[in-house]
Amino acid sequence: MTDDLQPMPDDWTRALAVVAHPDDMEFGSAGAVAAWTGAGKQVGYLVLTRGEAGIDSMPPDQARKVREEEQHASAAVVGVSPVEFLDHPDGGIEHSPRLRHDLVAALRRHRPELVITFNHHDFTFTGKWNSPDHRVTGRAVLDAVLDAGNRWILPDAGAEPWGGVKYVAIAGSVQPTHAVDVTGYVDAALASVEAHAAYLAGLGVPPGGARVPLEGFVNAAGQRFGGRPAVPFELIAC
Ligand SMILES: [Zn+2]
Repeated sequence: MTDDLQPMPDDWTRALAVVAHPDDMEFGSAGAVAAWTGAGKQVGYLVLTRGEAGIDSMPPDQARKVREEEQHASAAVVGVSPVEFLDHPDGGIEHSPRLRHDLVAALRRHRPELVITFNHHDFTFTGKWNSPDHRVTGRAVLDAVLDAGNRWILPDAGAEPWGGVKYVAIAGSVQPTHAVDVTGYVDAALASVEAHAAYLAGLGVPPGGARVPLEGFVNAAGQRFGGRPAVPFELIAC
């Protein structure tokens, strides 16, 4: 055990998670979200796509509806509200003027103190090449946090600037710095993952098959966090 991960700061009340796909928050982070909402914090999700390209056996028009419903169910399990979608194309998210405007407008509307997004680095924490949607989204979110606080940048994206983001927490990062103790919240995290039933079936995960990898993930982080099951994040102070 190295215990090199620091506890996540607690001086915030509103968080907004901005991710590319339904399921990006669930695989790993749902336990942290459950712990936060269990402690009375407010967490909302903003999902850039409806994950319509995520199930090989299901055409996008059908998958879009299924995955939206699964994301709502999954978020409800861990106390998240609201859940919003931006309808950027799954597999085709671009760091475009439209994305920049959408993200700045969302930050000015939700006014979060903590922003959560997903690993924007080139590689995943398992050493694979990362999805372009994840790379683009994470970087665009970090950029938008800066832009949202400047009233002269994108003045038509929301009535008032929002410069109150204290931290951006990167889930699934290759270089985590902090962690959240999820003791007592692993079952809620699993239920949140399992709400993505059609998606899991499409990946060939059998019923109940998500428990072992989820426990492996939180226990691995726990080896760097006092032996407690934990969800790791790379924390960037703003
Ligand atoms: Zn994803």
